[in-house]
Amino acid sequence: MADILYPRMAVIGCGLIGSSVIRAARRAGVVGEVAVADSSEAVRTRVAELGLADQVTGDVAEAVKDADLVVLAVPVLAMESVAKAAAGALKPGATVTDVGSVKAKVSQALQRAVPDSVFVIPGHPIAGTEQSGPDAGFAELFEKRWTILTPLPREDDPYLEAVQRLADFWTALGAHVDRMDDKHHDLVLAVTSHLPHLIAYNIVGTAADLEEVTRAEVMKYSAGGFRDFTRIAASDPTMWRDIFLANKDAVLEILGRFTEDLQALSRAIRWGEGDKLFDLFSRTREIRRGVIAAGQESPEPNFGRDRERH
Ligand code: NAP
Repeated sequence: MADILYPRMAVIGCGLIGSSVIRAARRAGVVGEVAVADSSEAVRTRVAELGLADQVTGDVAEAVKDADLVVLAVPVLAMESVAKAAAGALKPGATVTDVGSVKAKVSQALQRAVPDSVFVIPGHPIAGTEQSGPDAGFAELFEKRWTILTPLPREDDPYLEAVQRLADFWTALGAHVDRMDDKHHDLVLAVTSHLPHLIAYNIVGTAADLEEVTRAEVMKYSAGGFRDFTRIAASDPTMWRDIFLANKDAVLEILGRFTEDLQALSRAIRWGEGDKLFDLFSRTREIRRGVIAAGQESPEPNFGRDRERH
């Protein structure tokens, strides 16, 4: 069993990601006591039934009291209000991190909200499914996935030690850890995650609105490619609304590039430029091979899920 890195951990928002952090941290033996605060009574009841925490409350300040690590796992635009609710009760020297999918806006919000006596270290595990809620979480979610930390530009030893401890925590949960500037994180994720989700939401919306093709036909023949988009487009509406609003600049920049490339593709189809299409499709095949070579091809790790769901 590993050493306890944080004697008390508070998780605010115990959905897919929050509950997976608890399951993985307990399995790794790196936390002592676990406290959960969640605004939803149904979630609190379920967390208690699943035995996920030593303390379950609707009061953020109560949960973070005496905590050495505070993990904010609520939708991105709820981070600031939750951090403000925690601020007065935070223990000096505690680490406050988050798992939000957008980093620059969240980092600024956390710095505004909490006192200087705590260490703010924003983070983002690049792992998830289209499910929500505490029942959807599982201990293996982060295994062999990347977690990106976006530390503040501070060079003092206590802060660097806190960052190293948090990196060790994620490593113990099975993740690979990278450190990155928050704005760069947001641009990278706009390409690898946010734009693909926007395209999926759009394509599924377009198909649903078509009059010439019936909905029954769309569903019946979905194996032709549409099915894969519907999985992504089933992702949580609150979470994704917040991501697009919080990462507006990077998403619009990448969307501009995407729209230009789409116009070029449409021209190539119109003018029968088969070579252009073939060249692009050959290049994209190489990218797929690169994803497989990097061990990131499966949408989610499914090993042992039935074994470890609490
Ligand atoms: P989730 O399953 O919906 O869980 C979020 C939980 O937070 C819910 O129980 C929600 O309660 C609760 N909550 C919302 N506002 C709150 C508040 N003000 N105070 C206390 N609790 C509050 O969502 P998730 O998928 O775990 O996502 C959580 C965070 O992880 C988001 O910031 C997201 O960007 C990030 N993330 C998600 C994924 C993914 O694939 N899902 C991957 C990486 C990172 P209600 O049910 O009442 O709203």
